[in-house]
Amino acid sequence: MVTVYLNDIKKEIEENKTILDAALEAGIHIPTICFHEKLTPPGLCRQCVVEVEGARVLLPSCITKVTDGMKIKTDSERVIRARRTILEMLSGSTDLSESPELAVQIEKYGADSNRFKDTAERKYPVIDDNPFYMRDYSKCILCERCVQVCSSDVQFSYALTTTGRGYTNKISTFYDKKLPETSCVFCGNCVAVCPTGALISSNEYNIKAEGAE
Ligand code: SF4
Repeated sequence: MVTVYLNDIKKEIEENKTILDAALEAGIHIPTICFHEKLTPPGLCRQCVVEVEGARVLLPSCITKVTDGMKIKTDSERVIRARRTILEMLSGSTDLSESPELAVQIEKYGADSNRFKDTAERKYPVIDDNPFYMRDYSKCILCERCVQVCSSDVQFSYALTTTGRGYTNKISTFYDKKLPETSCVFCGNCVAVCPTGALISSNEYNIKAEGAE
């Protein structure tokens, strides 16, 4: 066991646990976006950052292991500002209209969704290449949950991957093939873990589209 101090509260926790684990055990809420409790944490979104005494930069709590004597602030001004900015940057580049979890965070952190309104939006046509689900990557926040669940975390299909870099970074199939031409078995796990509606069953998509008419 090691001892950590979360917002000055002393907490004993097993070695090899993360700061996020320690916070959860202590009943302290740390917001997450890319993290999913059943998947390997990718540490991508940085929304779960915390301030650790002695560290120059904010650390992602989902992938940072606890060490004995660690002093952690989960809601310092610097942490709050970082989380708010991440939400504002996502709002400027991505369609978050189907992201209820993010809407809650935007409200909680007082994020200004228009702060980066001049940012080039990441817009893509909706991909409808199979009978089961649609891919609307204009709503994708690149959390990579779908890639993980499709690969070694659950399904071992390896149909999805990431392509491009920086602004052109996106989720795709290998060689951008249509899904029926890939190793996809249409298990639906990617749809289940997608937090933003970027992946959606064709039925649900069509019902929503009919309702909007
Ligand atoms: S499609 Fe959904 S699950 Fe996949 S990276 Fe984008 S937001 Fe995440």
